Amino acid sequence: MPLDPARLVELRREAERRFSETLAKPVGVLQLTVFAMPCGCTGVSLEVRNVVREDVEVFGPRMKGIVDEVVREVLGEAPDVRYARTSPTGVDVVSIAGRLTCEGCRDEIPSAADLITF
Ligand SMILES: [Zn+2]
Repeated sequence: MPLDPARLVELRREAERRFSETLAKPVGVLQLTVFAMPCGCTGVSLEVRNVVREDVEVFGPRMKGIVDEVVREVLGEAPDVRYARTSPTGVDVVSIAGRLTCEGCRDEIPSAADLITF
């Protein structure tokens, strides 16, 4: 069954509202992206603004629920890895994603320098 574009628009808006509520500040979700990689990983990535490393370190457990619900609705199952990707400075978070990993990537993601898993 194809994804309903209107529902994707709603999911983006809901994610933005829930991240803002959770972090108690205005968080922007500029884009919701469904992805598939050459290795076999799939997932959903949310491009964010006004999120920093410390937010993820403190509120990761609560952000997990938001990410899991989006991925479950779009891909039919909860992700097995969730992570925030930081800018080169390591302070600003540029995206938050949930991924259904392939065998090869499962163990590598937690050791990636620009990713904070939660
Ligand atoms: Zn992979």
